Amino acid sequence: MAIERDKRERAACLCGKGLVIESFWANDHAFASDYGFHSSGLMLECEECRKEWVILEKVANPSSPPEGKKPIYFIRQADLRAVTMHNDQLGKQASAFREEEQKLGRFLHDALRRLRSSLLTAIDKDGTKIDCRYQILGPLLDIRTLDDFHARVGRTLPKTYLPKLVTSDNLATVLQRLGQNDEAEEILRARRRLKEIAEAKVALKAQEKLPTAGETRFY
Ligand SMILES: [Zn+2]
Repeated sequence: MAIERDKRERAACLCGKGLVIESFWANDHAFASDYGFHSSGLMLECEECRKEWVILEKVANPSSPPEGKKPIYFIRQADLRAVTMHNDQLGKQASAFREEEQKLGRFLHDALRRLRSSLLTAIDKDGTKIDCRYQILGPLLDIRTLDDFHARVGRTLPKTYLPKLVTSDNLATVLQRLGQNDEAEEILRARRRLKEIAEAKVALKAQEKLPTAGETRFY
């Protein structure tokens, strides 16, 4: 597939010795569904200006251009570096949070799997009668009558209904009812921490900065 390219001069650079160019590309394949030129953005074609400036599309101080015109934002390299460093710092914190989230997620996932598998063993120990299973699971899952239990599990097998009855939502409660209070407390702590992390990530996102345009032109 061939790519067609085009360049258009948009404005003079800041020192006046160079230009701001907008480049375009088009897919000229006969079956291309998006025939037409797409902008690949503005470029500053001036060695002098490029020592101090860059052109970016998104800035902290966007201006409303005159009717039918578009803005060209010139950002000082030093400003861009400061903003990039600031955002990188936030990015590092965010990735530390992601790592912690994954670790906690794995911990909760493993705890749930362990509980399901130990319940599976427990309910099969004394045979496979549904009322024996109900004797064990009913009190743990707050299912009050055998009829209710029947209604919940139908004719399905324990390995099918246990994952539906024992979930991350009641994991801590079931562990408490089994007398495994330390494990239950750990689960609750992990969930609280996950909630804190989710909030902290939103706060981090809000601290992200955009560079500020030092000069703006229109074309
Ligand atoms: Zn220039």
